[in-house]
Amino acid sequence: MFSELDINDRILKAIDQMGITQPTPVQQESIPVALEGKDLLVGAETGSGKTLAFVVPLLQKLLDTPKPRSGTRGLILTPTRELAEQVENMCAELAAFTQIQVQSVCGGENWSNQVARLRKNPEILVGTPGRLKEHLERNTLDFDDLEYLVLDEADRMLDMGFKDEMSFIIDACPTERQTLLLSATLNHSKLQSLINVGLKKPVRLQLATAQDAVETITQQMILADHPGHKEKILLWLLDNEEHEKGIIFCNTRAFAEQLGTKLQREGRRIGILHGEMEQPERKRILQLFRDGRINHLIATDVAARGLDIEGVDLVINFDMARKGDEYVHRIGRSGRQGRKGLAINLIMSNEWNLSATIQRYLKVTFEMRSIAGLKGHYKGPEKVRKNGRAAGTKKRKESDKRKSSDKPKVKQRARDKKDIGKRRQPAAAALGDGNAPMMRRKTTGLDPND
Ligand code: AMP
Repeated sequence: MFSELDINDRILKAIDQMGITQPTPVQQESIPVALEGKDLLVGAETGSGKTLAFVVPLLQKLLDTPKPRSGTRGLILTPTRELAEQVENMCAELAAFTQIQVQSVCGGENWSNQVARLRKNPEILVGTPGRLKEHLERNTLDFDDLEYLVLDEADRMLDMGFKDEMSFIIDACPTERQTLLLSATLNHSKLQSLINVGLKKPVRLQLATAQDAVETITQQMILADHPGHKEKILLWLLDNEEHEKGIIFCNTRAFAEQLGTKLQREGRRIGILHGEMEQPERKRILQLFRDGRINHLIATDVAARGLDIEGVDLVINFDMARKGDEYVHRIGRSGRQGRKGLAINLIMSNEWNLSATIQRYLKVTFEMRSIAGLKGHYKGPEKVRKNGRAAGTKKRKESDKRKSSDKPKVKQRARDKKDIGKRRQPAAAALGDGNAPMMRRKTTGLDPND
């Protein structure tokens, strides 16, 4: 609860009015430290609630020690104009029940208008480094009264080449001040020198990042020519890739149903899970999956949200996820609690750019993999082919060179062996009670107990 965080009632009222009830982890951890006046290094990303986490202690400080005649008391540096606007809006909303004024100062805006607004001495400024430096150089602004400096998305500012501007601005601030630095990762190569000049004995808080969340998961891609080709690759993987349990993601309910039904008709014990299924049926399928009576699920994102099932170590994106967050969420179904997982993305030409965007977002490079006997014609965009392989991707060496006729490495349960030679169940019954024979399932089924 925010009320437990020792925050002024006027700020609490604004938080309440914004419809925000519970602090996010970054807020829970960093607000108390910042309220103590300590410098803070926070590894957190957009979407974590980091803005509120650094604005609230600033407002609290300004309310605790009113100084009506002072100049800028709080400065928030952001890499882009859009982010500056967002932060400005957040400040304004949180300060709605106070007299505190906030102003953004970004490049691309009319200089004279900006100077006129700066003369009104807003307590909080939010801006991009280039334009702020220009104001300092032209003496239209000074930071002599500054008490609270925030370097938001510092890694991005460094990547955008703002190091000199940031150093210049830091130099223009009094040394007696509180400084907060926020960055998606605290391991950025250029961050340390900035920390050395900008912060004093900072408390370090690293929140889990999207990259961290998928660190234990090996991520691969296999190129495919068309959905039929993907299907063959999928079947090969289900039969040959060593794993306990796997989830196959599709982008639409209709396709999940179609693919799942087709595989069931072929005698595979495979569950289908999508958002439009009745709740009892969803529960039943999930229980079968939990119990290891089926080891594969064909699912859509909606249905798989929040699934935490022990033993899932393989995720196959039959359709590539449409967004980075969605992708992280999908592959995070495997490799839970620090266990190793494998995510395999089946990529057609129309999914190449999406997969490249997701790799950039996660700062990972998918291992390029191909399966002997199932190589297609599509090899990636031309410029990638010229380089011999996908940009930054590594060639996979051993296991994929196994022929599809090779003996699968997967373990077999005694129960499965007993099924050999039994009559094939009709498709509709293939998922029935969990005892129906499975024609080609080769994965083991550890009994999960979560
Ligand atoms: P940020 O990570 O600061 O970019 O914030 C992402 C979004 O989360 C913004 O739209 C905020 O309004 C919202 N937000 C911030 N804190 C909370 C919270 N405690 N509960 C719910 N939403 C929040």
